Amino acid sequence: MRIALSVIFSVLIIALVVCMAIARRSKKDIGRVVAFLITGMATPVIGNLIIIISSNRIVSTAGYYIYFIGMDLAVYSIWYFTHLYCELGKPKKAFQIPILLLFAADLVHYALNPFLKCSFGTIVTYVEDRAYFKLAPYLGQAYHRIICYGLFVVVIVIYAVKTIKSPKVYKEKYRVIMISMIAVAVVETYYIFSRQPLDISMVGFGIFGLLVYFFALKYRPLKLLDRMLAGMASEMPEALFFFDKSGKCIWTNAPGKNMIGISNDNYDEVKENLKYLFGDLDFGSSGWAKRVTLGTDDEAQYTFLSMKSVVNDKKKIIGSYLSVRDITEEQQEMKREMYRSTHDSLTGLYTKEYLYENISRRLENDRETDYMVGYIEVANYKVINDVFGRRFGEFTLKKIADFIDNSTSKKCIYGRLSDESFGILLDKSTFNKERVESILSNFTVKDDNLEHHILIQIGIYDIGPDDEIDVPLFFDSAHLATAMISDKYQERVVYYDDKLRNEIIHNQLISNQVKDALETKQIRPYLQPIVDSQGLLAGAEALVRWIHPEEGFMNPGMFIPVFERNGLIAEVDKYMWRCACEILSDWKSRGFDSFISVNISPKDFYYMDVVSELKSLVEEFGIDPVKLRVEITETVMAAGSIDIGKIVEAFREYGFIVEMDDFGSGYSSLNLLKDINIDVIKIDMQFLKDSERNMKANTIIKNIISMSEELGIDTLTEGVETAKQFEKLYAMGCKLYQGYYFSKPKPLDEFEKQWFD
Ligand code: C2E
Ligand code: CA
Ligand code: CA
Repeated sequence: MRIALSVIFSVLIIALVVCMAIARRSKKDIGRVVAFLITGMATPVIGNLIIIISSNRIVSTAGYYIYFIGMDLAVYSIWYFTHLYCELGKPKKAFQIPILLLFAADLVHYALNPFLKCSFGTIVTYVEDRAYFKLAPYLGQAYHRIICYGLFVVVIVIYAVKTIKSPKVYKEKYRVIMISMIAVAVVETYYIFSRQPLDISMVGFGIFGLLVYFFALKYRPLKLLDRMLAGMASEMPEALFFFDKSGKCIWTNAPGKNMIGISNDNYDEVKENLKYLFGDLDFGSSGWAKRVTLGTDDEAQYTFLSMKSVVNDKKKIIGSYLSVRDITEEQQEMKREMYRSTHDSLTGLYTKEYLYENISRRLENDRETDYMVGYIEVANYKVINDVFGRRFGEFTLKKIADFIDNSTSKKCIYGRLSDESFGILLDKSTFNKERVESILSNFTVKDDNLEHHILIQIGIYDIGPDDEIDVPLFFDSAHLATAMISDKYQERVVYYDDKLRNEIIHNQLISNQVKDALETKQIRPYLQPIVDSQGLLAGAEALVRWIHPEEGFMNPGMFIPVFERNGLIAEVDKYMWRCACEILSDWKSRGFDSFISVNISPKDFYYMDVVSELKSLVEEFGIDPVKLRVEITETVMAAGSIDIGKIVEAFREYGFIVEMDDFGSGYSSLNLLKDINIDVIKIDMQFLKDSERNMKANTIIKNIISMSEELGIDTLTEGVETAKQFEKLYAMGCKLYQGYYFSKPKPLDEFEKQWFD
């Protein structure tokens, strides 16, 4: 027994020393306190080991001293440790100091023992045939036991309270310590009262030290973790199914039960039901994931299944779980997002980028078909927007999108390129230019029963077999083609080709030469006479000509439209106005009384303040503004984007005479007359031509003239080519005439020679 016990003690002591060393190095705050406690536990065990082994009184007595002092240390360290373990904080000084004093007194009385024999002595007995020095307690020993037990009881009470008060999952950690302490106390008490020579309660001390080490430093509240994980799993929105090693379902959360329609904890049908829902699933293996779509079309539910295995510490599979996530929302959001990023929100057509991407792909994959791209543009979009409002503008775009949608073949790919333009890939063989032109020439959009004419133009780039696929370049070329569409010929569809390219280059060239041409007077006014009903000169219209060193004689039709598109028109017109003023000032000094009409391009209003420009010219040359007539075309008056009424008023206020040019060429002429106060209307020669054949037109002209008269507006007919025309107009009461019948436009000197000499 002595040998067995000493072996057990030794093993325990070694184990405690090891644990103590580990505890000291632990990163946890409580580590050092645990080391302290283990030291406290190990010391009485060491004392006892000495007592058991020894057969010598002095050695045994030393053992007893170590034992008792160790007991003090053990109890004190338990008390200290308990504070931290039970989360009470460090012991308060008010308790600490008296307790330390009590232990100090105990140590003092042990120190006095050799002299006073106040604590204990030893009595020799024989245990297993060897001398054994048994304890003979004196009065002082009672003091030692009282403080040790007293404090021990206090500590047990603390654990008891903690065990009762803590949540269930935490109880374990307190309960274990408490029970082992009680066990140790009971055995120790038994030893004391049984007067057994050998103190087996020391085994309890050792084990207790190890338990503390484990619970304070190594223990993870697995039950707590279990609870937490189970709680989390139940709360998860996705359905979870847990399977044991054999593949049997052992648990599923509420969404899981819902999904497969079980209400109790009978998991036998789980696998069958899952297979019924998702088709054949591989429950045998783990580590797979797949998407399964349930239902179809709008009702479709998208799910994501993933099977994972659960392994133990040794990496052995102990089970698996299947998670089923409903990804319908994400999927739909993704689809919506995809749609949003690839489709124009207003028209629902492809966006430019997506269109390019699709066309590119098609051209790469289909080399058989001959394709071309079309740049479809609403030429009067800005006007539509300004005059009829943004809402109508957008409505128009939607109508055009619908039209494209409905009138194209399956093979076409189309989308929106910019605010007012659309792009399309066309199969060349199915495209019929004439048909498209005729549809476009009558394209109207209805708004509150009013039909609005929408000017749609298409530029086309024919993709050649040798062209490298460069969709943006194709569309740029097609766009360029639309820029060349002339309003005059009512063109709607224009192909980009070499001729057009040359024209563009030519336009570029003449545009670059304008400044120089103005300075060197290559560009200069010609004058065409305006006569009264007696055939006498009333004035002249200044018409621009460019006598080009290489190109020769150029009519305004060859360059005005180009300059109107690029804005250079403003420079040319300013120059023409200045020339007109120069001539007027010269005529004034020479006593000639005629007026000169100058043309104002609709585009001029975008580039300058036309009224103040002309005012300052008139002032600079000191001429009467009545002599400088301004011709504004009917189209600009109808365009509405600029407040032409105000401008006309400003001109007239200053004394200019305002003429409405090309009256009758537009469609709201009469309407305008009631809103805008003009002085003269110039009736378009086109109108006159018709009058020869058409009696109705004749009546209209007659009425325009008489109506104008009533309104106090003079009428001027231009393009008079024959005596017959003149006579007819004269009979109708027209005031002023202009046309080849009287004279073609001529250079200044020729004009003056003809009329002033
Ligand atoms: P417009 O203002 O209507 O000018 C009348 C046009 O009719 C002139 O053509 C003139 O030569 C032509 N014409 C005159 N009598 C007859 C006739 O009996 N028969 C025919 N068939 N034609 C006749 P032009 O000079 O070629 O000018 C064409 C257009 O160019 C002008 O039409 C005007 O809109 C524009 N334009 C001319 N000069 C200028 C200018 O200095 N500035 C601006 N902004 N535009 C100008
Ligand atoms: Ca004119
Ligand atoms: Ca005219």
